[in-house]
Amino acid sequence: MGLYESKKQLKTKYGNCIKNKQGYWVVTSNEKGNQNKLLHRLIYENIKGSIPEGYVIHHKDGDRENNSIDNLELMTNHDHLKYHHSRKRKYLIPTVLVNIWKFLHFNEGWSYQKLSDNFLVDGERVGSEQIANYVNGRIYPFDIDSDKHKDYMLNCLSRS
Ligand SMILES: [Zn+2]
Repeated sequence: MGLYESKKQLKTKYGNCIKNKQGYWVVTSNEKGNQNKLLHRLIYENIKGSIPEGYVIHHKDGDRENNSIDNLELMTNHDHLKYHHSRKRKYLIPTVLVNIWKFLHFNEGWSYQKLSDNFLVDGERVGSEQIANYVNGRIYPFDIDSDKHKDYMLNCLSRS
């Protein structure tokens, strides 16, 4: 499915990891039931406890490979989106949008069909196949400069 950036591996106590296209380490081995989980989330949960629904783990210094606990911060989806939007408005928005979808798919087990059923883009349904294309980075969902789309996504998040 082209989920992984490279074959570079990292062995951790949570399992063997490989970097995904977003530059996050993801567990690929399944001995500990961690398969497809994001390493930084596992590290955070191991030390600080479980991550409440609607929250994400932010890398404070922006380095997605720096998973020391001091660099990991619990934020609401909403605040996280706002934070990155304010910092890197020009190009990060589509990435954030795709990450929301990825987040729901990999962490909450949502199928592309469920995403399709629960999200509207510009007031319209987006097919599961199209969502799969977004998630796999083949196309960006929106015009990256559109305030309308930003507000729409912030609304989606605040309702979830
Ligand atoms: Zn972040």
